[in-house]
Amino acid sequence: MILAWRHLPRTLHQKTSSPRTPKTCLSPSLGTFWRSVTKLGLHTKPRMPPYDFTPERYQSLPYKRVLEIHEQHLSPVFTAYFPKPLLLHQGHMQWLFDYEGNRYLDFFSGIVTVSVGHCHPKVNAVAQKQLGLLWHVSAFFFHPASYEYAEKLSSLLPEPLKVIFLVNSGSEANDLAMLMARAHTKNADIISFRGAYHGCSPYTLGLSNVGAFKTTLPSGISCQSTMCPDVFRGPWGGSHCRDSPVQTIRKCSCAPDCCQAKDQYIEQFKDTLNTSVAKSIAGFFAEPIQGVNGFVQYPQGFLKEAFELVRERGGVCIADEVQTGFGRLGSHFWGFQTHGVLPDIVTMAKGIGNGFPMAAVVTTPEIAKSLAKSVLHFTTFGGNPMACAIGKAVLEVIKEENLQENSQEVGTYMLLKFAKLRDEFEIIGDVRGKGLMMGIEMVRDKVSRQPLPHAEINQIHEDCRHMGLIIGRGGIFSQTFRVAPPMCISKAEVDFAVEVFRSAVIRHMERRTK
Ligand code: PMP
Repeated sequence: MILAWRHLPRTLHQKTSSPRTPKTCLSPSLGTFWRSVTKLGLHTKPRMPPYDFTPERYQSLPYKRVLEIHEQHLSPVFTAYFPKPLLLHQGHMQWLFDYEGNRYLDFFSGIVTVSVGHCHPKVNAVAQKQLGLLWHVSAFFFHPASYEYAEKLSSLLPEPLKVIFLVNSGSEANDLAMLMARAHTKNADIISFRGAYHGCSPYTLGLSNVGAFKTTLPSGISCQSTMCPDVFRGPWGGSHCRDSPVQTIRKCSCAPDCCQAKDQYIEQFKDTLNTSVAKSIAGFFAEPIQGVNGFVQYPQGFLKEAFELVRERGGVCIADEVQTGFGRLGSHFWGFQTHGVLPDIVTMAKGIGNGFPMAAVVTTPEIAKSLAKSVLHFTTFGGNPMACAIGKAVLEVIKEENLQENSQEVGTYMLLKFAKLRDEFEIIGDVRGKGLMMGIEMVRDKVSRQPLPHAEINQIHEDCRHMGLIIGRGGIFSQTFRVAPPMCISKAEVDFAVEVFRSAVIRHMERRTK
């Protein structure tokens, strides 16, 4: 009998899901069943939603030559995903096309950067108009684009966050924020979370606490790390700690208005203040949701208390909105607002320019004055006419196309759908996030929460790509899939992504039983 894949009873997939039997260990009879399914070739690729767009024909270097040039002339730190790296050629909104014309649904947005869609028509038109007008003058001269942009961006921030410094990258923004914190407080020590990534410049390397980025050379003077309040992987966490439609699988007995995990993590934070920094500190950096570490969320209320403790020590609080800003989290435009806190400095990059290199630091007039008193800050390209025109168009598109609302609606839909997969499969340990920022943490099993081995995650990642879905990776062990599509995606595209991911996990289970 030939069964069409779509007719396979869902309960068959769930049969192995009793809490005592790890779902990845199929019973022998079920194993035979999966094998016969594979032999019959019933793994049809999930069907991509249609898209009416024809990419241009690829006419550049042959793939083999690209690999040769990469090896001979480009940075030897080879970071590309997949053993056969993707050579992408064109993008349109949430879709990417490779050199062979294959279409992919982009659920990573070039590391959470393409906020409103690849080559968005309005942003493209504005960029082309500005290209014909004026590219560059430097900060020694005025041009209208930067004033129009500064006015628009500042209107989106609460008082007293009204002074804007335009720079070129997230690292540069955080470098400047460090300098501001130190110039303003006249203190040196800065605290950031373990697992945080705030940049790769020599200065910000001190804040980035991801082992792979740490160097054996002296760096990170007066930077101290503190425990990340990770309610899934960390020592404490329960069933209603985080601000997300999906909670962890961990249980707790906290009443809805109290969170013991938060209290425990705050004790750790106090411990850092008491043991590892001077009595007076310069500041504390936090991403509202940790990006590179796999979209890790802290317990609600943690940042509020931590900010108070930092201010008691004379420090300023810096929100790194490089990944979380510009409406991606749905409920609010900025990630810090989801924690009910008001930072002293906000840094932003990535989604700010939809892929155009630009970044910003926003602070209070008081802190800006302290910086001006202590140093002349200058950048040649920061706030150039192209960046400002594009940045303004991005803000307009977010508003005109209701992309923050779309992030909320489609993001919540996506989180709840993936949460069902987490309940179905033992190796999906956690699904978390807010809006269109979702982490899927892969584990050996839900009891140990140990990361799924690298090679196994790589294969799932690769299978998704072969079925036309691009997702990212994160976490110290690269154990978490990062999902952050352009904010224009629809529920139909989420349905496709869920089907692809589910098929990839099922294939993984089959490989294990072979
Ligand atoms: N902060 C965060 C939260 C980031 O994710 C990144 C980049 N991944 C940076 C800062 C640094 O940005 P850039 O790569 O533009 O220097």
